[in-house]
Amino acid sequence: MIKKIEHIGIAVKNIEESNALFTRLFGKAQYKVESVESEGVKTSFFMLGETKVELLEASTETSAIARFIEKKGEGIHHIAYEVDNIEEEMKRLKNEGFELLNTQAKDGADNKRICFLHPKSTNGVLVELCQEKTK
Ligand code: ZN
Repeated sequence: MIKKIEHIGIAVKNIEESNALFTRLFGKAQYKVESVESEGVKTSFFMLGETKVELLEASTETSAIARFIEKKGEGIHHIAYEVDNIEEEMKRLKNEGFELLNTQAKDGADNKRICFLHPKSTNGVLVELCQEKTK
């Protein structure tokens, strides 16, 4: 089951500058900065009530964020939905005809297991499913 919007991901060119900018915008600082080597990204998270804003900066030239900024510039990159069982949701959405970008849930930032859906199957919006990792 999809429970809520967990976060909105925004691609930025310079995460230090954008952390300062969003800190001014929200009136509070990010609660974490985290690199995800496997994705070639540096991320930061701002908590806003029930939901979050994630900033993403490319840490390698070949990362998906680098390619996104090259094509479209900075801006909203994805919307992440929290699910209670990621394997079940992946199976359900695949059966519904959505194109999954990974066949297995993988590790993401902020203690999550994640899976992306191809934007061509979701009206142009990159969708991330995420589930909090149990420790
Ligand atoms: Zn995300």
